[in-house]
Amino acid sequence: MAGATMDKIVSLCKRRGFLFQGSELYGGLQGTWDYGPMGVELKNNVKRAWWRANVYERDDMEGLDASILMNRLVLRHSGHEATFSDPLVDCRKCKKRFRADQIDPTEKCPEGGAHNLTEPRPFNLMFKTTVGPIEDDDNIAYLRPETAQGIFVNFKNVLDSTNRKLPFGIAQIGKAYRNEITPKNFIFRVREFEQMEIEYFVMPGTDEEWHKRWIADRVAWYQQYGIRPGNLQQFVQPPEELSHYSKATTDLLYRFFPERDESKQFDEVEGIANRFDYDLTCHTKGGKTAFKDGSFLPNEHAVLKQTYFDQPTNTHLIPYVIEPSGGVDRITLAFLMDAYEEEQTTEGKERTVLHLHPDLAPVKVAVIPLARNKPNMVEMAKRIKRDLQTTGKLRTLFDDSGNIGKCYARQDEIGTPFCVTIDHQSLEDQQVTVRHRDTMLQDRISVDALDRYVEERLG
Ligand code: ATP
Repeated sequence: MAGATMDKIVSLCKRRGFLFQGSELYGGLQGTWDYGPMGVELKNNVKRAWWRANVYERDDMEGLDASILMNRLVLRHSGHEATFSDPLVDCRKCKKRFRADQIDPTEKCPEGGAHNLTEPRPFNLMFKTTVGPIEDDDNIAYLRPETAQGIFVNFKNVLDSTNRKLPFGIAQIGKAYRNEITPKNFIFRVREFEQMEIEYFVMPGTDEEWHKRWIADRVAWYQQYGIRPGNLQQFVQPPEELSHYSKATTDLLYRFFPERDESKQFDEVEGIANRFDYDLTCHTKGGKTAFKDGSFLPNEHAVLKQTYFDQPTNTHLIPYVIEPSGGVDRITLAFLMDAYEEEQTTEGKERTVLHLHPDLAPVKVAVIPLARNKPNMVEMAKRIKRDLQTTGKLRTLFDDSGNIGKCYARQDEIGTPFCVTIDHQSLEDQQVTVRHRDTMLQDRISVDALDRYVEERLG
């Protein structure tokens, strides 16, 4: 049995329609990827599973979908305009650019010898654009570099329209854009990606307890959907690495690079920060943004105070906030990698299979006619497919793309939990064969009982 490597996943994703290089037809656009027919289903299922766990199954959460284009002032007062940058260095010989903290010291310069690097200088990662027909400085807006700011600037709107009491949270899923210096490692580091973020507002003093609870909840979610405990690590950021806007941060790291030396296999899939009252203090009338160097930017632009009125103590206060922030693309990649296995079947054949959690699997059932030149069989297969997708509301595929072995191989590689095969006998006795992805065991089931059978097993 062999597991995933990044190369194997890239190859499977292209072969089976999970992901394609963005703008591939025209030579590509670096740092962008397009989700294909299987990829969009998987990604939507990941987002649905997150939303269900964090919004529908809790009593203390609201949802939000804020704009991607943001007024420049939002990102000025959040501190992004001044400081959202990575250290950029250039090689004086080959003119290539690198992120100073990520350059591989063993990399050779194409011009010979080692790179001859400039001193690092800050490179702001935000994509700038102009809004409206006139392109000048007054019309500059940014594509948001994280979804979080959309939540902070709507804190008061959500509070007033829902009458929530602390503690409560706001969840959002959406695109974010960063002009990364060196996008790499497939969908791990890209320039356009999606985030799933929660800002959970709490009474000051209760923040440390809530931070611990959110870390535990998030770890449990990954495990519930199949991530093996050994592939997920917690990294508590030491005080010297903490951002000035964070009181404590625990990163969840996934084993994205199993082929590397042991110390370099894990990297961040999600960060869970205790940001105390930093963000709402930035975005409130009369508030201020504190910078790392000790300077401040007073807020003379916000039109109202974003405070919370605490009735028992009769005080207006700025809540503290816990932020679990994950990237949809990295999380999707983690689920793909964890599910991937190359196995030996009992007949001694090789197969590649994605053991995805059924809720995440892009397709739940594939219906396969044993002979594609037999109209009765094809008709019966198509009817069963239609019934499963309407009555059972299951994403179902009709697959007559090859012989039965090829169909099984294809469905195993996209992680379809069940294959339903219609054979000659089915036409006589209205029974079909159901093959299970993980065990490859087969059951003979009456067509009438099929949707119940599948539903029960999908949970
Ligand atoms: P990194 O240190 O890897 O650049 P970060 O700490 O800057 O990431 P955050 O700002 O904490 O990332 O963003 C939260 C999450 O968003 C990350 O944990 C990651 O899953 C995702 N993310 C951030 N940048 C990217 C990117 N360029 N491509 C894909 N996902 C990203």
